[in-house]
Amino acid sequence: MRASWSASTGFLIRRVVAATAQHGVTIADMPSQYRALLIGCLAPLIVVVDLVYPPLQAPRPLAALLDESAHFVTGLVLIAWFPHVRPSTLWAAAFGAVLIDLDHLPLEAGWWFLTLGTNRPYTHSLIAVGVLLLLSTFPMPRTHLLFGAAVGLLSHLIRDMATGGVPLFWPLAASRVTIPYAGYAAVILVAAVVLLLVSRRSVRG
Ligand SMILES: [Zn+2]
Repeated sequence: MRASWSASTGFLIRRVVAATAQHGVTIADMPSQYRALLIGCLAPLIVVVDLVYPPLQAPRPLAALLDESAHFVTGLVLIAWFPHVRPSTLWAAAFGAVLIDLDHLPLEAGWWFLTLGTNRPYTHSLIAVGVLLLLSTFPMPRTHLLFGAAVGLLSHLIRDMATGGVPLFWPLAASRVTIPYAGYAAVILVAAVVLLLVSRRSVRG
């Protein structure tokens, strides 16, 4: 069984390397099964890094770098569930998962208008996801990017709920909503296992 898994993994890695060499692709351009494989391998690293440096407890620049990297990968994990997304949608999810934290900048400058009464800015809420999803249904160009950003923002909220909480239901409620870190880690690890199984089956099949 173990030999079979290592043979399969070796097979998959060779296929990914061959696909990359053949198409000169980035992770976004890869066929979805190879993308699932790479993201499935990448995802557990978030949990490993979080165990070494508990989220937001390292020195501030390092904590920010690690946290945003984890957000980037979490965005990739969530968008990987949509098998036929365009490369640009995938990047929109990954970068959307990171760029939402720009909403902390007004507070850094001393302006409270996005944070009055909440622990994180109002844009760290389901209503922001809903607005992006709604806009993505409008008949205008590049709405797939808005869909990707909505998925990225949702992934961001999932991680932030495990690292201090977010005002998830603002403006209905200003209270922070949290989940145990183990819940987030379980979501990431289960997603990684499923992505690996799916990619293994589809590459072989
Ligand atoms: Zn955040």
